[in-house]
Amino acid sequence: MGVTAVTTTGSKGHRPLLAAGAVAAGAATAAAGYWLCMSPYSQAFGAFPYRGRTRDKVVALTFDDGPNEPYTSQIADFLAERGIRATFFQVGRAVLRSPEVTRRLVADRHTIGCHGFTHEFTNYLGRRTLAQDVRKGQAALATVGLRTALYRPPWLLRTPDLAPVLREHGLTAVSGEFCHALEVFQPRPEMIAERVLAKARPGSIVIFHDGFDGRGGNRASTVAAVRIVVGRLESAGYRFATVDEMLGVPAYA
Ligand SMILES: [Zn+2]
Repeated sequence: MGVTAVTTTGSKGHRPLLAAGAVAAGAATAAAGYWLCMSPYSQAFGAFPYRGRTRDKVVALTFDDGPNEPYTSQIADFLAERGIRATFFQVGRAVLRSPEVTRRLVADRHTIGCHGFTHEFTNYLGRRTLAQDVRKGQAALATVGLRTALYRPPWLLRTPDLAPVLREHGLTAVSGEFCHALEVFQPRPEMIAERVLAKARPGSIVIFHDGFDGRGGNRASTVAAVRIVVGRLESAGYRFATVDEMLGVPAYA
């Protein structure tokens, strides 16, 4: 009503003010929308654990968007050298491309979670396409003999449809904290590592990316950052757990 009254006065002076108000309101709505649907911390659409409840010096390293060679294997080689087990949330279509890499991770006793099938943003917006993507992601993991109970939504995007779809598949949603907001641009490894180390504390679940949307991509900086992070955390007395161990939930159905 107030808006109509102002616009019908025909006073041009009010229009920029109104426009600015609309932009501010739009920005606030977008920010609120981001917080609800994509923030690692929002619990608006059901439980979405981003850290474990422990006082022990233990951290869970997680890797999204793989398998993506040679980076996934480089990370796996390093973790094997150090006797560390981690969690890999894998994209179904990437698993179909490199099933031997996923098998190797399983043989090394890492935990494998589902990270959808396509990793195409629009597929996660509607109930039908979301359900189809989760089903195909699980089917891809089934080709290497896995029936995982853990799911990390691509972009951490949650909608009201997510919880019922995951329930159908017996999946638990898992969040975490991004290693570095600009990891996708592969900044220097030291930059990524510093950010992780600044945030790390007992119970941290760190999100790295060994791939990019299941499409491949250079992840050399991430691989090098993982080496720095592990070295520094070990020196500080930390050990490492898989996400299922950290949260006390089953990894597989
Ligand atoms: Zn992803």
